[in-house]
Amino acid sequence: MPQLVFYRKYRPQSFSEVINQKNIIKTLSNAIVGGQISHAYLFTGLRGVGKTTVARLLAKALNCKGRKPNEFEPCNKCESCEAIKNGNALDLIEIDAASNRGIEDVRSLRENIKFQPINSKYKIFIIDEAHQMTKEAFNALLKTLEEPPSYVIFILATTEPDKLPPTILSRVERYDFKKLNLDDIIDCLKSICKKEKIKFEDEALRLIALYSEGGLRDAQSLLGQISLVTNQNITKKAVEELVGAINFEKVKKFINCLAKKDKEKAMEFINDIYDEGYDLEVFNKEVLNYLRKILLLKISPSLGKVLEKEATSEEMTILFKQAQVFDTPYLEKLLKRFIDIQVQLRRTPIPTLPFELCISEEL
Ligand SMILES: [Zn+2]
Repeated sequence: MPQLVFYRKYRPQSFSEVINQKNIIKTLSNAIVGGQISHAYLFTGLRGVGKTTVARLLAKALNCKGRKPNEFEPCNKCESCEAIKNGNALDLIEIDAASNRGIEDVRSLRENIKFQPINSKYKIFIIDEAHQMTKEAFNALLKTLEEPPSYVIFILATTEPDKLPPTILSRVERYDFKKLNLDDIIDCLKSICKKEKIKFEDEALRLIALYSEGGLRDAQSLLGQISLVTNQNITKKAVEELVGAINFEKVKKFINCLAKKDKEKAMEFINDIYDEGYDLEVFNKEVLNYLRKILLLKISPSLGKVLEKEATSEEMTILFKQAQVFDTPYLEKLLKRFIDIQVQLRRTPIPTLPFELCISEEL
């Protein structure tokens, strides 16, 4: 259950509060002051780095009625700023492309574009998860982008820009958002804890930031969940218990690559988690333990009893399924390799290399 209270409460209301996207903010603020506004923007970057937050700020600044011509920050006082903050602005239309994929939605988008803004300068469409738009929706969008009405602005946000058609890519002004630093996220969590009078261990906040993989929204939501569960006392132990469930998901993904002998995906996976700041020794230990469970179930399903304390019943179901995919010799070979990797990880100059070798040789 996502806990978005902190995310909503502490979402930046002005550009100066946005973390770690200085270059983007600078370019955008120059454009706002200079009046050089594009009709279509593309914001790309990982989850939770501030794409939709900046999109909203841009919308707010452009439609602000209290902003002086030489300023770029929204006034946060006028009716337009208030409406955007409260999520009821008539001329800011936010579409989640992942859940609005039907023909009806495309039609209403097309209709909507035709009408002038109601009480603002611009009618602004923020399309989140834009790579998930349907072909029809892309076509409708493309038509508009070819001859955009002067009052229409699109801001597309996506984690996967490569999935957008070239015809769209060539018509948007693109901004690549940077991944957030671990320290930035920790600082942000710390300041929330102080404002909310939540007790915390430093190491606990570091773990939260680490597990959120550079995404501030996930970090804030995790903080919210743990703070609820622990009655506002965030300890390292509490974080570890909660993220145990998240870890299972991660390792499961990797095990699936091994099961399918998908070298490419497995290589990508290892490099991704390394980039995300995962401790590969910890990860390897979890892989070992996971494969061990599968081996036990492979020998006899009744050995599930042994594992009951270590896995939830949902996890057991998944383990049983995966046990059917692996053959025993392959499983044993992998286990031996991952035991070696545990030792090699302390000596290797390139931390991903022991995994890459194993993937290359055994899959
Ligand atoms: Zn305003």
